[in-house]
Amino acid sequence: MRVGLYPGSFDPITVGHIDIIERAFTIVDHLVIAIGKNATKTPLFELDKRLAMIEEEVGPKAAARDVRLEVISFDTLLVDVARQYKAGLIIRGLRSASDFEYETQMTAMNRTMAPEIETIFLPASPEVGFVSSTLVRQIVGMGGVVDPFVPASVLKKINELK
Ligand code: ADP
Repeated sequence: MRVGLYPGSFDPITVGHIDIIERAFTIVDHLVIAIGKNATKTPLFELDKRLAMIEEEVGPKAAARDVRLEVISFDTLLVDVARQYKAGLIIRGLRSASDFEYETQMTAMNRTMAPEIETIFLPASPEVGFVSSTLVRQIVGMGGVVDPFVPASVLKKINELK
C-alpha cells in the first residue's frame, strides 16, 4: 500500500492541482491531500470550505481509480503529517524555475528531518502549468472570469461569493 501526501493551500483548488492529483493516482494507492492552515492570511475560502470543495471534486475521481482518498488540514510540520499518515511520499507540482528553487530547498530540509520520506516532483502539464491559486484569487477579487482555471464545482462556489 503506497501512501502519498499532497500538501498545499488549495485556495481554491485549480485545474493545475487536479492535473497533479490525477497523475498522482497512477503512483499511489492512498492519497492524502493536506491543506496547510496558515498558508494564506486572507483566504478566499475558509479551510472547511476548501476541504469540502476538494472532497466533492476529487472524491469521485479517486473512487473511479480505486484510490483511497483522505482530505485533511494541518498546522504542524509536513514531515510529522507524513509520519502520522504513514506516507512514504510527498508529492509536489513544479511549474517554473521559482517553484523549483523553493521546492528543492524545502525538500532538502524535509529530507534532513525525515530521511525515510521521499519527495517527488511532477512537472506541470503545459496546458495548465500557468495556473496558480494566487492569481485566481486576484482575478476573482477584481471581478474577472476564472472559468478556465478552476473545476465547474469550484466556479459555482466562487459565483456564490458574489
Ligand atoms: P498555489 O502555489 O497555486 O497557491 P498551492 O500552494 O496550493 O498552490 O500548491 C500546492 C502544490 O501544487 C505545489 O506543489 C504547487 O507547485 C502545485 N501546483 C499548483 N498549481 C499547479 C499547476 N498549475 N500545475 C502544477 N502544479 C501546481
